[in-house]
Amino acid sequence: MHEYAVTKGLVNIVLEEAQKAGASKISLIRLVIGDLSTIIDESVQMYFNIFTEGTIAEGARLEFRRVYAKFHCRECGIEFEKPKTGFDCPNCGKMGILTDSGKEFYIESIEVD
Ligand SMILES: [Zn+2]
Repeated sequence: MHEYAVTKGLVNIVLEEAQKAGASKISLIRLVIGDLSTIIDESVQMYFNIFTEGTIAEGARLEFRRVYAKFHCRECGIEFEKPKTGFDCPNCGKMGILTDSGKEFYIESIEVD
């Protein structure tokens, strides 16, 4: 049910932005979803179809881009994507700390007609 609220918020933002831009139709919405977020693409699409019925966003295409979880190394201060195994810094070998990227969900861009 998490996607219900998330998608409702998303639709509100998209419609508001499109209105500001004076758009008559929204054709494409690009979304970024973190690897670690629990958002399911299909659920977002399903709720999106419901919420946009009768709006200028009806029938818009949703494009999802997954971003990998990023870790931060306290030792040398670098950020790195999660290695294939473990969470160790590729530079110094100390264990990295998970950053917020990878949990995110946001709108990258909106294409309107
Ligand atoms: Zn390091």
